[in-house]
Amino acid sequence: MAGLYLHIPFCRTRCIYCDFYSTVGEAVQERYVDALLREWELRRNELAGETVDTIYLGGGTPSQLSPALLHRLFDGLGSDIDYAACREITFEANPDDITAAYAEALASLPIDRISMGVQSFSDDDLRFLRRRHTAAQAIAAVECCRRAGFKRISIDLIYGLPHQMPASWEANLRQALALDLPHLSAYNLIYEEGTPLDRLRRAGEVQECDDTLSLRLFEQLRDTLTAAGYEQYEISNFARSGAYALHNTSYWQDVPYLGLGAAAHSYDRKFRRRNIADLHRYIAGIEAGETCYEEERLDADTRYNDRIITALRTMWGLDLDGVAADFGEERRAYCLRMAAPHLQAGLCECRDNRLRITPNGLFVSDGIMADLLYVG
Ligand code: SF4
Repeated sequence: MAGLYLHIPFCRTRCIYCDFYSTVGEAVQERYVDALLREWELRRNELAGETVDTIYLGGGTPSQLSPALLHRLFDGLGSDIDYAACREITFEANPDDITAAYAEALASLPIDRISMGVQSFSDDDLRFLRRRHTAAQAIAAVECCRRAGFKRISIDLIYGLPHQMPASWEANLRQALALDLPHLSAYNLIYEEGTPLDRLRRAGEVQECDDTLSLRLFEQLRDTLTAAGYEQYEISNFARSGAYALHNTSYWQDVPYLGLGAAAHSYDRKFRRRNIADLHRYIAGIEAGETCYEEERLDADTRYNDRIITALRTMWGLDLDGVAADFGEERRAYCLRMAAPHLQAGLCECRDNRLRITPNGLFVSDGIMADLLYVG
């Protein structure tokens, strides 16, 4: 089994915090879709016979593509991929792109899951983040998708904004719960280097949320959503009734994936590849029959470290027998030795040969994972 990721690097405007690769005002969508199809032809053998069972269209903004181009993309891939056998086909959408007609067009494609970049239900927050939609548009967009027949809908939220207080985060969470969705993701605002947001921070024009307040907002998120019946199955992801994001979960479970498009990443347990992050050079390369990526061969230490920082993010944790089988008994012993202080402090637990970060440890999970890495 393998995942297929398609990167759609078009945005109408750029949000202040974003460091994903995307461009604005480009009129090359048609050539780009054809390049994605050509890249699939050139690289599908990298999956070494594994069947594609999850597909994810991410961005950028996939909902910047017209229904006609999306049909072209799915028709082109459909000669090789059995969509009916896929467990999940997710499409990332921005609320300002979703009309009733667009949602119906999406429902006529093999897509069965929508991930909506809502980020906040406060119009002040949305203006600050330079999002292009309002809270009312986000609510209407979710309803359009639901009316079009989508049951698997997820929204993304961001917390820890400058000046955000527990009361406004609570209002956000209440509005999210009112939508009664099977899945929610919530991310702490990160000041990524090189973004306009980071420049504002460096200039002293915005102040980062401090650790104490961040922890409080994180606990509020966890407590509110778990009380409403959601399971925190990954640090930032919550699902009801087992409605996990299957494509993303496969990233955390060491499943290979092929990433197509400018700046897309691929992984096959031996190599990590990153396509060129330049739209025009990507298209020109693919049109000339060349795949333009950098690759890194993954040695055993790198694969062990990757395992630590993916598996420990999830409620399923790290399979210690798997560590011993893939990296040797010594590495399992090393892992448990490094985890010992966290086990003693109740930030980790070990049951059924699986090491997990406890709910109390999740907020400091970065530090715990850093301690377990192997630095030879
Ligand atoms: S957050 Fe999404 S919509 Fe905003 S610039 Fe980044 S990719 Fe584009």
